[in-house]
Amino acid sequence: MKQIGHFIDGEKVVGSSGRTADIFNPNTGAVQAQVALASASEMDVAVASAVKAQAKWAQVNPQRRSRVLFAFKELVEKHMDELAALLSLEHGKIHADSRGDVIRGLDVIEFACGVPQNQKGDYTMGAGPGIDVYSIRKPLGVVAAITPFNFPAMIPMWMFGMAISTGNAVILKPSEKDPSVPMRLAELFVEAGGPVGLLNVVNGDKEAVDAILQHDDIKAVSFVGSSDIAHYVYTEAAKNGKRAQCMGGAKNHGIILPDANMDQAVKDILGAAFGSAGERCMALPVVVPVGEGTAERFLSKMLPAIEGLRIGISSDPDADYGPVVTAAHKAKVTSMINLAIKEGAELLVDGRGFELQGYEGGYFLGPTLLDNVTTNMTTYQDEIFGPVLQIVRADTFEEALALPSEHQYGNGVAIYTTNGRAAREFADRVEVGMVGINVPIPVPVSYHSFGGWKRSAFGDINQYGMEGLRFYTKTKTVTQRWLESDELSEDSAFVIPTF
Ligand code: NAD
Repeated sequence: MKQIGHFIDGEKVVGSSGRTADIFNPNTGAVQAQVALASASEMDVAVASAVKAQAKWAQVNPQRRSRVLFAFKELVEKHMDELAALLSLEHGKIHADSRGDVIRGLDVIEFACGVPQNQKGDYTMGAGPGIDVYSIRKPLGVVAAITPFNFPAMIPMWMFGMAISTGNAVILKPSEKDPSVPMRLAELFVEAGGPVGLLNVVNGDKEAVDAILQHDDIKAVSFVGSSDIAHYVYTEAAKNGKRAQCMGGAKNHGIILPDANMDQAVKDILGAAFGSAGERCMALPVVVPVGEGTAERFLSKMLPAIEGLRIGISSDPDADYGPVVTAAHKAKVTSMINLAIKEGAELLVDGRGFELQGYEGGYFLGPTLLDNVTTNMTTYQDEIFGPVLQIVRADTFEEALALPSEHQYGNGVAIYTTNGRAAREFADRVEVGMVGINVPIPVPVSYHSFGGWKRSAFGDINQYGMEGLRFYTKTKTVTQRWLESDELSEDSAFVIPTF
């Protein structure tokens, strides 16, 4: 059985806690590897290595830091298919989607390569008589990245790309469900010339996360995962004096106005609801057609589109989506569908009980479509995170606008319309962090930033872009005056300096 340990100080090391977790092949249900679950003392070793590496890295000039990341980017590109195959085998998403996972992470590495420009600081000459002021952004030291199972390449790169470029060292604690890609990325980072100890991967579960939260040498925590755990990590990190940005769950709505290009809306929502088996925090699991006619037109096109979906193993090039990540997750999604029916939703397409011939042990779910979902249903309020699309019918623009605005989550939303004025008003008023206008999965490009509102994010600084740079650095402002050795300034020493 393949054993996955940790990556510390430039080397793969075996775990010593005696605790492990099984990693499944979601296509077959077979256990394919075991991953070590770190104890607090293993975390100590990794952090000590990171502290040492960071002290040297902080002295490296920004263009040299950028060059290492550039070499890393080229190496990852060279290993793209290998990484995507490894990712698909543990996660279950199809190969093309796994490549997308890697590519969206590399976008942030590219942005991070611009650190010489972005971390330059500000200078004011003559802020007072003979006085200049400059502000610089210093790294925090060692920071931690705690990541979810659903983007095992992109989300680690969001975090370590920005953190390392700005002079920090990183402890990466990936999801215990699919740790192989994060481990391989750390290996490639060293192969690209990254100093050993600067990116350590410590595998584990709550015990490893708690060790991070309690470690005095870890100065900041970036987290992405479900909301209850995001909230726990945020409050514990803050209690221990750490900076924290903790992204949580989501329930993103796709609004369709009567004047929308319906063929495009259906094409987009089909992919955004069922792609990656619905396991994306920017998926569109709720569709809101505005008006009866819109709902009927939507259904007349969506029902045959769903019928045409092809579910297959993650290496099947013709599959639209693959299995969900674990048997436990499949059971959770199934029980949410059962509950939705009990709550009164109308089951139009039933994905429960789907079996892929030859892969009966795999965690496959067919697409499910539920109509007449209402806001009082638990299955509307909670995240399902599976290939399930819920229809909530609205009569007016205002009703549709209120749905995502009043929902506990506020990650992403999309509106489909040909009316620019309506789209503009929607984008302005909706209480959600990321908005798509005729765009289904509005994950912002790397030079903007990523972050939801309400229970989709705790903390006030977004991931990547200039927000990411600010998160991983602290400002130092220097006010300086150069007098001759025998010169005395005219101001009083007893009054606060005013210029
Ligand atoms: P998860 O919350 O189960 O796990 C996330 C991380 O927390 C993992 O590293 C895990 O090991 C750790 N963890 C698990 N239980 C813990 C505990 N009790 N205490 C401390 N740490 C713990 O999330 P997941 O199932 O891996 O990922 C799916 C979730 O992530 C969904 O809710 C999805 O919406 C969310 N997500 C959000 C975003 C975003 O940017 N908002 C992006 C991707 C995924």
